[in-house]
Amino acid sequence: MLHNAATATQLAATHGYSADVGAWLVLALAAWGAGYLFLCWIWPFTNCRRCHGWGKRRAPIGRGFRHCPRCRGTGYRLRIGRHVLNRLRDIRGASTRRRLP
Ligand SMILES: [Zn+2]
Repeated sequence: MLHNAATATQLAATHGYSADVGAWLVLALAAWGAGYLFLCWIWPFTNCRRCHGWGKRRAPIGRGFRHCPRCRGTGYRLRIGRHVLNRLRDIRGASTRRRLP
């Protein structure tokens, strides 16, 4: 019993095991990133963080409302991944425009 436990610890500490874990971690991160970019492509907007999608904020005193300054009253914000996609599209568009006469 004690011998088996020591053997398992030795196997887990070998270099090959940690390399496999690293490869799987990279694969999982790549899959997550691809899924997130696909999500940003399909649904570019999400709720504003400051007003939680309401588009307005309560006044600190009284019962008044005003438009959320962060989202300008829309209640939406652009996802960070969509900002990245837009930037990539701008770069690609600029390079193709340069090639055109
Ligand atoms: Zn807002």
